[in-house]
Amino acid sequence: MPGSRFDPKITAQWARVRGLMRSEVGDASYRSWLKPLTLVEVEGGEVRVAVPTRFMRDWVVSHYGDRLRALWMLENTEVENLEIFVEAPRTKPVVRQVGVPRNQAPAAPAAALKKVEPATATDISSISAPLDPRFVFENFVVGPPNEFAYAAARRVADSEVASFNPLFLYGGVGLGKTHLMHAIAHHTQQKFPERRVVYLSAEKFMYHFIRALRFQDTVAFKERFRSVDLLMIDDVQFINGKESTQEEFFHTFNDLVDNNRQVVISADKSPSDMEGMEERLRSRLGWGLVADIHATNYELRLGIMDAKAERIGLEIPPQVKEFLAHRITSNVRELEGALNRVVAHVTLVGREISLETCQDVLHDILRANDRRVTIEDIQKKVAEHFNIRMADMHSARRARAIARPRQIAMYLSKQLTTRSLPEIGRKFGGRDHTTVMHAVKKVEELRQADVTFCEDVDLLRRMLEG
Ligand code: ADP
Ligand code: MG
Repeated sequence: MPGSRFDPKITAQWARVRGLMRSEVGDASYRSWLKPLTLVEVEGGEVRVAVPTRFMRDWVVSHYGDRLRALWMLENTEVENLEIFVEAPRTKPVVRQVGVPRNQAPAAPAAALKKVEPATATDISSISAPLDPRFVFENFVVGPPNEFAYAAARRVADSEVASFNPLFLYGGVGLGKTHLMHAIAHHTQQKFPERRVVYLSAEKFMYHFIRALRFQDTVAFKERFRSVDLLMIDDVQFINGKESTQEEFFHTFNDLVDNNRQVVISADKSPSDMEGMEERLRSRLGWGLVADIHATNYELRLGIMDAKAERIGLEIPPQVKEFLAHRITSNVRELEGALNRVVAHVTLVGREISLETCQDVLHDILRANDRRVTIEDIQKKVAEHFNIRMADMHSARRARAIARPRQIAMYLSKQLTTRSLPEIGRKFGGRDHTTVMHAVKKVEELRQADVTFCEDVDLLRRMLEG
């Protein structure tokens, strides 16, 4: 029993640290990364914890290191430091890395096999980059902007034989390409444990290829990839330009596809829009299925926040979720970052999550997301929509047909920008902040009472958010 070596107090502290980590990161991540940790020593203010592999150590240190240390410090005031080191376990490693060697030899010519096989078995797994255990299908929130890419990814992961070869996923930054690729890898490894899965960035691919070139080892390089069942290369826009690498990529790629190995590619553009890429390769990339991930919409952002809140077991008031979903529109990564920041803040300060906290803590992110919509944009759009003059946004006229759109514009300014009430008032012909406040209240009331009005306002908002 590893625990029995310690003072029961220490054992209990370790159990609590693990319990807290488990509730924070969720069961799947806990099992993959934290359960295999072994407490080795608590001595002189330092906690020493062992992990079975270097790969795991790097992952645990970078993803959970700070948090583990913080939790230890809370549990035990004498603790100042946490060391995570590698110690090979006596039994087999608990964690399986990507690209586990197959039991049977890869299908390669006998001569090549003899020479290359030993290197193949080890090298190919070392080539694969670590997978993020959170990036699984279950954690991917599906909505109209990404449902096609999601369905395609699932199909690829579920298929007995290569389908849609290659699957080409493309979309803007932070919209879930890497998440889907890791999900394919996780799922494939679970469903077909004998398959060799290799996931790496295009940059890493280039790096390995250039190394092979330097050591005049390109044949072995190709052989190595030939033993892969599922090859995934992320961000291939980075392969642009380097001709010899493109050439190599092209051959490796053709080889795999011809041998019915599944290939999945991601990029920030569609194959036809990739500049600096050889025409031959460009068109070849588009032969399978091309699936794009569109920018998120409001509902998807809301869904992602719900999922995330549930995962970390935190209650987030609906108006805060709505606020964030409306305001952080750039991409999912930023939305997650914002939420993490708010959560960290309220955990530390021990306060409730409120709109005010969000505005405070996320000031910079909100501004950056805000640049796209200005009060002027809002005034212009609203004026157009209600067919009034832009000047009426600033004028003193109080006829309902003018005052109402003006109030809507004030309301939208409050919702869609980070401007304060006095700032908004100033932009509407130097009105007082109480006038703006009144406008916001009035519009909220009307939205409740009048469905058509509500739809009108929402339509405007959507147009402004783009
Ligand atoms: P990309 O590779 O397209 O730049 P990522 O896959 O790295 O984007 O996604 C950025 C972050 O957003 C990740 O933490 C990912 O889990 C999350 N994410 C993206 N799309 C979704 C989604 N539909 N549901 C849940 N999380 C998502
Ligand atoms: Mg990515």
